[in-house]
Amino acid sequence: MSDYKLGLNYALEQDQNDALKTYREQFHIPKDKQGKSWIYMTGNSLGLQPKQTATYVNQELKDWANLGVEGHFEAKNPWLPYHEFLTESMAKVVGAKPIEVIVMNTLTANLHFMMVSFYKPTKTRYKILIESDAFPSDKYAVESQLRHHGFDDKEGVVLWKPRQGEDLLNYEDLEQILKEQGDEIALIMIGGVNYYTGQFFDLKRITNLGHKHGCNVGFDCAHGAGNVALNLHDSGADFAVWCTYKYLNSGPGSLGGCFVHERHAHRKDLNRFTGWWSHNKQTRFRMRDEFDQMPGAEGWQLSNPPILSMAAIRASLDMFNEVGFENLIKKSKKLTGYFEFLIKQLGEDTIKIITPTSPNERGCQLSIQVKNADKTLHNKLTEAGIISDWREPDVIRCAPVPLYNSFEDVYRLVEHLSLTLSKREGTEKE
Ligand SMILES: *Cc1c(COP(=O)(O)O)cnc(C)c1O
Repeated sequence: MSDYKLGLNYALEQDQNDALKTYREQFHIPKDKQGKSWIYMTGNSLGLQPKQTATYVNQELKDWANLGVEGHFEAKNPWLPYHEFLTESMAKVVGAKPIEVIVMNTLTANLHFMMVSFYKPTKTRYKILIESDAFPSDKYAVESQLRHHGFDDKEGVVLWKPRQGEDLLNYEDLEQILKEQGDEIALIMIGGVNYYTGQFFDLKRITNLGHKHGCNVGFDCAHGAGNVALNLHDSGADFAVWCTYKYLNSGPGSLGGCFVHERHAHRKDLNRFTGWWSHNKQTRFRMRDEFDQMPGAEGWQLSNPPILSMAAIRASLDMFNEVGFENLIKKSKKLTGYFEFLIKQLGEDTIKIITPTSPNERGCQLSIQVKNADKTLHNKLTEAGIISDWREPDVIRCAPVPLYNSFEDVYRLVEHLSLTLSKREGTEKE
């Protein structure tokens, strides 16, 4: 039983009592030409800009202007160890130990670098298991790894599919696949939160299952980082990767994150691609030493990183730290629960939520399937200043983000959806 109520007043009241309400003002919310704020529901695609990001980035621009190369040591936040300023707060956000986390490269690049170490095919065990509706980049990355090792990129991919007529994935089916083909599967690579359905998987359960059958297990947490409690360390996963421009609000194309479980931190037998940034910090600049690998996730770095992007990540992570991840999840569950409550009023024969109903099996996103819908529905919402995401054939994805979306946003979104749908029914009858 929910305590949610209908009507705008309820939404306004919730916003008034919201412990995180001051954070909305700390973001730039885009506006239409009349100056009315958009109802921005696509933080799962590109998070909004925190106002303090400019201050953080400007600090580095200023130090670069005034110090040039000396900024590596003399900047207010020296660039040489700059990535270390992110590690602890990023580790908190994904539920890992600092030694397990590094911010580097971009998401798909990190996925490849992780597969260099954790996809180790043999003649008999070479397949990669992914979810059938994996994000295209993940699918392409996995297929290219198969080809790179001389395997067939169709035959080598094992799909974990929903059952006929269903949208969500079922753990019993995964168990069955592993029972039948487990000894042929080298790697299980799943999107921690599926980008399409919003299903948040039980990472620990999948990892245990995979390990029981001798497979390595990794997750793409692009839709999980900053959105759900990933508890990566406790999951036991071998690796995870994610981006920081979705729920972590660090700007278009910003750097990715990478997790390597502590038990691999000191392994020298794992193959990896290396660069000078994977080399021991103490002797890196002697430039002539034999390669001496750094322990932990840091040892997977290659290059000296882009400080301007890292400054934006730092601005965002400082905010996450201040809020506290538990508080964020608490509001997120309430806000998305309210969204679900309102959507259900529209009647399940026109509109269906394909995202799991249990708050522990989803983040803030709801994927809504609208009967007989096409993209005009989405376009109508966009005209009304409601920014959502359309996925063919008939799904609208909306992600009310607890840091900057309000109960009023959610109320107005559903109000418009309802209005657009009833108008549509009107024209159908004419
Ligand atoms: C957003 C997203 C990507 C995008 O990859 P980039 O390398 O950052 O362009 C890849 N995989 C998943 C699951 C995503 O959600």
